[in-house]
Amino acid sequence: MSDDLIVRRPEGLYCPAGDFFIDPWRKVDRALITHAHADHARTGSAHYLCAAPGAGVLRARLGGISLQTLAYGEALRIGEVTVSFHPAGHVLGSAQVRVEHQGQVWVVSGDYKTQPDPTCTPFEPVRCHCFITECTFGLPIYRWRPSHEVMAEVNQWWQGNGAAGRPSLLLGYSFGKAQRLLAGLDPSIGPIVVHGAVEPLNEAYRAEGVALPATLRMAEVKDKRLYQQALVVAPPGAARGPLARTLAQASDAMASGWMQLRGARKRAGVDRGFVLSDHADWPGLVQAIGATGAERVIVTHGQEDVLVRWLQEQGLQASAMATDYGGEAANDVALVTEAPASQAASETHDTADSPSPGSPHSSSQHSP
Ligand SMILES: [Zn+2]
Ligand SMILES: [Zn+2]
Repeated sequence: MSDDLIVRRPEGLYCPAGDFFIDPWRKVDRALITHAHADHARTGSAHYLCAAPGAGVLRARLGGISLQTLAYGEALRIGEVTVSFHPAGHVLGSAQVRVEHQGQVWVVSGDYKTQPDPTCTPFEPVRCHCFITECTFGLPIYRWRPSHEVMAEVNQWWQGNGAAGRPSLLLGYSFGKAQRLLAGLDPSIGPIVVHGAVEPLNEAYRAEGVALPATLRMAEVKDKRLYQQALVVAPPGAARGPLARTLAQASDAMASGWMQLRGARKRAGVDRGFVLSDHADWPGLVQAIGATGAERVIVTHGQEDVLVRWLQEQGLQASAMATDYGGEAANDVALVTEAPASQAASETHDTADSPSPGSPHSSSQHSP
């Protein structure tokens, strides 16, 4: 028997000493949730616990659940362990889960990014003995430019389209990416319109006090001429939906970390690709892992092999753990190219189990 604080069970990551799961992919009695993206927060568990700023978005996605919250840094005793949530900088309310038992500290990262983001609390490194890290973009080729530079390009692209009387369609995941894009837009350029799938999440962000520019819902646009100067923020799947007819003349663009790959840009079939990710790039992963001081690192969902090897070369005890995560960031390109007409449904549907062939994230399907 190992005395690991967190182990993999068929239901998900499990803490035996506390008898709870973290981001389980099956129904369990007690689920601690790192953040409300569909592959980390699934319906059907009896009791949920999350960081307080994430309660609104979690309810927006899972509906009437039994939910307890903790402020960032607040400790709670569960069974024989003490747990607390710490900012992950990924999306509103995202948290790393710290678990302490008899002087041993383990941290489960959930998804995280180290770039600043006006829509959520910045990532905070937490000292631990073992760090369970994501690695969605765990290859040295992934290096993000500062997001203000990327947003300046987005605004320039919008301005150029508007000057030509052409609508701008900006595709980004409806929870997290969409709000980060909105926060970086320059509302003096023209009207900002959001797809119906984005609006409920915007409401949850605004209710948490996150400043977003004024937006119109597509249903509120009576005079279609407004679109000529407008920028429309929509989830990737919407590009194939009814919206495509309304915005037939639009210049389209996609904001995603995958846009760094030429193949992904081509598959997405959009005019522009903006490299903007909710996840840490390679230097961010390396820096975040180093800042924990952990001597042991368990790598999940992404290019596990490459990061594991690199960490071992640095003298750390590193291994991979297979999980069912990897839906939202993994498949946004696939959503553009393969999505059925019902955009919102396809986006919130868990796509983790069926990555497209050639999906850059397909290694998440590895068995241990
Ligand atoms: Zn996520
Ligand atoms: Zn994830």
